[in-house]
Amino acid sequence: MSLHIIDEAKRCLHCKKPQCAKGCPINTNIPEMIKMLLKGEIREAGDMLFSNNPLSLLCSFVCNHEKQCEGHCVLSRKGQSVHISTIENYISNYFLNFPIQKYTGERKEKIAIIGSGPAGLTISIILAQRGYDITIFESRERIGGVLRYGIPEFRLPKTALEKYTDKLLELGIKIRPNTVIGHGGLVIDDLFRDGYKAIFIGTGVWKPNSLGIKGESLGNVHFAINYLKNPDVYHLGQSVIIIGAGNAAMDVARTVVRKGVRDITVFFIMGEEQLTASKSEVAYAIVEGIKFEYFKSPVEITDRGVVFSDTRLIQKVDGSVWYENIENTTQLYEADSVIVSISQGPRNYIVATTEGLHTDQKGLIVADGAGRTTREGIFASGDVVSGAKTVVEAVNYSKKVADSMEQYVISLRHGKKGKGV
Ligand SMILES: Cc1cc2nc3c(=O)[nH]c(=O)nc-3n(C[C@H](O)[C@H](O)[C@H](O)COP(=O)(O)OP(=O)(O)OC[C@H]3O[C@@H](n4cnc5c(N)ncnc54)[C@H](O)[C@@H]3O)c2cc1C
Repeated sequence: MSLHIIDEAKRCLHCKKPQCAKGCPINTNIPEMIKMLLKGEIREAGDMLFSNNPLSLLCSFVCNHEKQCEGHCVLSRKGQSVHISTIENYISNYFLNFPIQKYTGERKEKIAIIGSGPAGLTISIILAQRGYDITIFESRERIGGVLRYGIPEFRLPKTALEKYTDKLLELGIKIRPNTVIGHGGLVIDDLFRDGYKAIFIGTGVWKPNSLGIKGESLGNVHFAINYLKNPDVYHLGQSVIIIGAGNAAMDVARTVVRKGVRDITVFFIMGEEQLTASKSEVAYAIVEGIKFEYFKSPVEITDRGVVFSDTRLIQKVDGSVWYENIENTTQLYEADSVIVSISQGPRNYIVATTEGLHTDQKGLIVADGAGRTTREGIFASGDVVSGAKTVVEAVNYSKKVADSMEQYVISLRHGKKGKGV
């Protein structure tokens, strides 16, 4: 394995104007990482990656590399880009076996982090390393958010998340699992009362979007995000229809096949060209035996399966492509179970119990680029602000928010008042 990594690193052309780094949303210094590895400076390389992106190890598993660093590598033009993600994975995994940089002075102000997904983890690590007294409030048993309760084990081994749990504890971060803020027990104002100087909300999007069609409440229908939380408790039968074709739908399909179901079909309202799932995820799904049906729009779900109408593409006035149903084309496609995977929106537990926290028409928390919400002292980033996006985008946004939270707390320390957006 390590020999392969080094061979891979040696394939790097050390371009004068490296394109790989340009493709990385968090500007990972890929050429430097490769140089350091080849010089035998693995820990230093790991340190550099971690300082730029505390979730480097996790991103090396789940980023869409084909569109990002590897897709931009000049060698990709010949279809042979350097396997940057594997190199990053090797270095970051190795690095996390050692103690990370830790603040040794007296603890600074208390900061509350609500949610331990990529956004909350990033801010917790950065601010703890700067000496702040961090407590994470997490509604589930374990940390990780979608990384643990959405992305399946075969794409992201949970041992990687255990390394992060160890790092959080090593940094002196306190974790309150099974604690839902705003829904029984504690609300945000309790945290201010108890001395937290700034509060971060990184609660993600966990409310499944529904189709709004007849039959959606039947016993054979499930939502993707709920299914992925714990697939073992579901009894799906022999055949499954998945409605939707994003990356979450691919995760569902590929999990269902691993649970023993052999007849799985993904239905999508548009064509192959409009698929939102990454090409590699679709390719894996196909080799794993999952079938795809295109140009099908669900009109009703029954105990026997789903009635779909055929669709065709139309061009909207803004030039984008959408679809419309074709009349008199409905047909029942039989299946034992149906899983609806058409993205998620935010829950409103916190905004419903917190004055002055504004949301947009989708229920997403209104915050500026520095994470400042409409209520002073409360910050937010990740999916709960930007809608369902990606891990690396949540980390990148949250790095800026960590800085602005620190500036805010320092301004309080000096008696200045901050302000929201
Ligand atoms: C199935 C699936 C697969 C995905 N695959 C990829 C992928 O391969 N690559 C990629 O880059 N992105 C992927 N994404 C998207 C990515 O995971 C998200 O963009 C990212 O996790 C957002 O991070 P976050 O911290 O904002 O939210 P989350 O990861 O959703 O974390 C929010 C956390 O807050 C907790 N929480 C919620 N409400 C409360 C409350 N009231 N009190 C306390 N805690 C609370 C939740 O339990 C959770 O732990 C995927 C998403 C899904 C759904």
